[in-house]
Amino acid sequence: MECKDFLSEAQKMRQKLVDIRRDIHMHPELDFAVHRTVGKVEEILASLGIETKRVAGTGLVGLLKGSGQGKTVGLRADMDALPINDEKQVEYASQVPNKMHACGHDVHTTVLLGAALLLSAARDTFSGNVKFLFQPAEETDGGALPMIEEGVMENPRVDGVFGLHTCPDLEVGKIGISYGKAYAASDMFDVRIFGQGSHGAAPHQGVDAIMAGVQVVNALQTFVSRNVDPVDSAVVTIGKFQGGYQRNVIADKVELSGIIRTLDPGTRELARERVTKIINNVTEAMGARAEIDFMPSYPSLINDSGMVDLAKENAEALLGKENVVLVEKPTMGVEDCAYFLQKAPGAFLQLGVRNKEKGIVYPLHNSLYDVDEDCLPIAAALTACNAVRFLQMK
Ligand SMILES: [Zn+2]
Ligand SMILES: [Zn+2]
Repeated sequence: MECKDFLSEAQKMRQKLVDIRRDIHMHPELDFAVHRTVGKVEEILASLGIETKRVAGTGLVGLLKGSGQGKTVGLRADMDALPINDEKQVEYASQVPNKMHACGHDVHTTVLLGAALLLSAARDTFSGNVKFLFQPAEETDGGALPMIEEGVMENPRVDGVFGLHTCPDLEVGKIGISYGKAYAASDMFDVRIFGQGSHGAAPHQGVDAIMAGVQVVNALQTFVSRNVDPVDSAVVTIGKFQGGYQRNVIADKVELSGIIRTLDPGTRELARERVTKIINNVTEAMGARAEIDFMPSYPSLINDSGMVDLAKENAEALLGKENVVLVEKPTMGVEDCAYFLQKAPGAFLQLGVRNKEKGIVYPLHNSLYDVDEDCLPIAAALTACNAVRFLQMK
């Protein structure tokens, strides 16, 4: 099957895809509790004769076998929504107060189901396997890693991965591609600094935890300015600083919480080491003591050049060269799909969904977020095309 055929088939099923998307959009679910959504996915895949298995609780892996032996391609979508109240005035707005698909994961799920429809109809025309990876909890603790730990990237081993995200900065009909590092790694940390209380007029009788905390916050900013290669990127943010009792008391304790974002895996290692040292040593120099809890989160998402080249070629064939846009700058945001791309070379694409004339202009995580549903058949066809072309590649 040619890529163009996938597009014309996908256009024919546009209404079906819209119906699926709107149903998921009206019934958003959070975190790992995507029970209804994964049930619907399971039902559709089963109706296509695709074997499915639940993983990591509400994750789902589906396996479609082609006509003969060959490689295995992994196609990934996330299914979870956000704790945001949907303020859109449309008939398909969320029916659940304070829950909304404001990050387009309803679209990702629908697109992957659309690709499953196209690929299952074409299963006699390719060799190898397609693995469908539907994950929960992208917005929270991450569903990708527990799915991988349960073996979804093995048996058969996944040789390459494709994923995508809706992009409200790109017009519908366009695809964004990026090479190399595309999303940041995230680490979170909590710090408790202990001093000793005394009268505010007698600071020499105590150890001022607020002063120690202030020095720590200042010194932490030297990590980015003095330790990170100026052409690399990193962010250290202290978003929370709490402590003290009243104006005439030297505080015996403060609590700080922050995040570190890095693009380069080496910089990530360095960040953890330097941030720990700065906190401990600055605190000690001030006569105080620190306790640090590190909570590593998603790794950086790094696209494979060969996989991006393939996706670019396919997108150009489907949509025309002028509709494939190179996204040059990475974002310091994070994406759980990064774990899948650590296990196999992959391409994570940006799907244009913007349409100013229809008022579809709001950013991700906004309570008015929406997409131009013309993106659905386009993305389903591109995903199917990427899968088949990857399997055909030597
Ligand atoms: Zn999001
Ligand atoms: Zn998202």
